[in-house]
Amino acid sequence: MILVSSCLAGLEVRYNGTHCLDEKIHELIEKKQAITVCPELLGGLSTPREPAEIIGGNGGDVLDGQAKVVNQSGKDVTEQFVKGAYVTLKRAQELNATVVILKENSPSCGSSMIYNGEFKGEKIIGEGVTAALLKRNGIKVVSEKNLAEFLDGKM
Ligand code: SF4
Repeated sequence: MILVSSCLAGLEVRYNGTHCLDEKIHELIEKKQAITVCPELLGGLSTPREPAEIIGGNGGDVLDGQAKVVNQSGKDVTEQFVKGAYVTLKRAQELNATVVILKENSPSCGSSMIYNGEFKGEKIIGEGVTAALLKRNGIKVVSEKNLAEFLDGKM
């Protein structure tokens, strides 16, 4: 079984109530090869919510207590992001998922790039909190950007 970001499956769970449907991921759901997960909702946040970014590092640093996640008003939402990461990990382990497909650029789900913490739309190399925790636990994280490569067996 594969876990996938809910928003990539077309569910309107993003901070602004939208989705970012990826047809290939939707196909995996239809074929019952994948199950959706949204770490931010699992962490106790709701939709809509303010956008959030990681300040002072990346997802691994957040897990280590060296960086935090704040929303656009400056409220610290680190606890919810960390909780969402651990609940997602538990789901992945219960399902024996060895691969998780997560939405790139998100402070939870990003696996190669995240926003830089200044709320200016600028990205930096890094990973979100959930992606970092899953990787630390030996789970392969793929994004929608390298999905074709993954499905072709090239990664
Ligand atoms: Fe939820 Fe991840 Fe999609 Fe954000 S990127 S809406 S946390 S599934």
